[in-house]
Amino acid sequence: MKPKHWDTVGDAHLLSVELTTDNPETLENLVPYVPSAPGETFVEFAYDLRKLERPKFRCAHCHQRHLAGVVVNKDGQRFLVGHVCGAHIYGTNFAVLKKDYDAAVVRQDILRRVREIRGAVTQFLAWLDTPAFSRDTIALSSSFALRCRGSANS
Ligand SMILES: [Zn+2]
Repeated sequence: MKPKHWDTVGDAHLLSVELTTDNPETLENLVPYVPSAPGETFVEFAYDLRKLERPKFRCAHCHQRHLAGVVVNKDGQRFLVGHVCGAHIYGTNFAVLKKDYDAAVVRQDILRRVREIRGAVTQFLAWLDTPAFSRDTIALSSSFALRCRGSANS
């Protein structure tokens, strides 16, 4: 079986892309139909603009108007599929595509968190190396020493 699209995408690449869009109709190479030529097919973005007052998109497959769905990429050509339609037109196939996409969303979220934590740890380590830290540490330890001496004398 061919590897799923997002499975073959490396961490760095996955971190550099967006998996959702608020403007699916402005994407490049968007076609208003389902391309018939065979090619690598994957769910590239999801969108849910149901809360916005805006004109609806037309599903490339059933032509029904919708505001929530996915952008399917077939060999570079993109088309919009309404969220209700997707499951019907591709059947189990679509479930596999959606599962691959969902896994990418989870993996990207984990990668972003790791990047954040790594950034915070790096900042903390840098702070340990700063003069401010050494000064505070010295001040702390000398006041502790003074207090020890004070209590010894009393
Ligand atoms: Zn449809």
